Amino acid sequence: MKPYGGDKILPSSRCSFCGKARSLVKKMIAAGSNDTYICNECVLECSNMIATGAEESSLFAADQQLTPPDFKQAMDAFVIGQDHAKKVLSVAVYNHYRRIDKPHDKDGVTFSKSNILLLGPTGSGKTLLAQTLARALKVPFVIADATSLTEAGYVGEDVESIIQRLMLQANQNVADAERGIVYIDEVDKIARKSENMSITRDVSGEGVQQALLKLIEGTVANVHPQGGRKHPNQETVAVDTTSILFICGGAFEGLTDIVAERLSSSGVGFAAAAPGNVAQRMDEEQLRSRVEPQDLIRYGLIPELIGRMPVVAHLQPLRIEDLMRVFREPRDALLKQYHALFRGEGVTLDFKENAVRRLAELALERRTGARGLRSIAENCLLDMFFTAPTSGGGSLTIDAKHIDREEDPEIRSHRRRAQRKRAA
Ligand code: ADP
Repeated sequence: MKPYGGDKILPSSRCSFCGKARSLVKKMIAAGSNDTYICNECVLECSNMIATGAEESSLFAADQQLTPPDFKQAMDAFVIGQDHAKKVLSVAVYNHYRRIDKPHDKDGVTFSKSNILLLGPTGSGKTLLAQTLARALKVPFVIADATSLTEAGYVGEDVESIIQRLMLQANQNVADAERGIVYIDEVDKIARKSENMSITRDVSGEGVQQALLKLIEGTVANVHPQGGRKHPNQETVAVDTTSILFICGGAFEGLTDIVAERLSSSGVGFAAAAPGNVAQRMDEEQLRSRVEPQDLIRYGLIPELIGRMPVVAHLQPLRIEDLMRVFREPRDALLKQYHALFRGEGVTLDFKENAVRRLAELALERRTGARGLRSIAENCLLDMFFTAPTSGGGSLTIDAKHIDREEDPEIRSHRRRAQRKRAA
């Protein structure tokens, strides 16, 4: 393995484990000869799994028939809050796999495919929900970015390369890849520019939406089996995307203004009032729950695409208490990872309540949702991670003042303490 860097410029590389693009992570490590990469975040997660002895993805027994409550339970172990979205997803995923296994019922009724649209602010758990579902189902999973999707002929990721990555996750098994889950992030960013909206958008959005539509409604992608680059003489395998579950996500900022405007002008439940008045009377949460397809069309999504995502789930912004729970409670919570990493170096970590709260407050201020927790915490802990392996063990206390960088944290060595005691 060698670190991605100066000698090998592969700007389109993605982590083969989590699917993140090179630009989204600090380091990308390439495996010798083929197009396989791992990012620094997955390395940390793997080392934590090894340190804690956690078994890989063993959420359920292999032969267990999963029901919607099972899916919810799996999501509860990793995702804080978002109960409504979890329920919507549990039912949709259950129906999706029932449909694949039995496309018709005994009376010949055909079940149709339902892709899912997740609406919610950045860092609220959209990707994590999709990832957790794939993990519970033990199906291959990839994350793609809608903005890097292109109409054929332009530079960027196309339909084939997404399916190629899915094949890689499925160990080149076509049948497994055809049952996989693809999470498409930032679908709101490919909304076409509309005269009615003041926000400036990419005018070419519509073409990209057509490419996405083709992918999610079902197409046969011809991909190169080993993830290699296209070569005229190389054999390809055909992968049918019809049964792949597509979960699309986006923040859709400004969408609630469109909902408020529609509700005001229709007068449903309101005297015809200015949008501002409606928005004042209904909070963001209520407005989000009233989103209709026509609002998404006004936002700039093409009707055909909306028609292919009949299941819509809303995620709530995470508040301080939620962020504190995200840091401490999920099965692979950051705090649990830090405890394990320091424990591996003989250092006992004591992360005080006030430090967790301050961390959550700062993450909230940054408006990046739970994503901010990690960078703030790791900025504060960087020197400690650096010195822990040579510290000879000890204890480390993190307080709010350390999070605010008013004081540097310090590993108190057991050895030095014992020496001081003896000397006294
Ligand atoms: P997005 O909504 O932008 O897709 P992600 O799911 O990628 O957000 O979350 C970003 C980071 O924050 C991930 O590391 C994830 O573990 C954490 N996170 C976000 N929301 C939650 C949540 N509700 N519960 C637990 N962790 C969360």
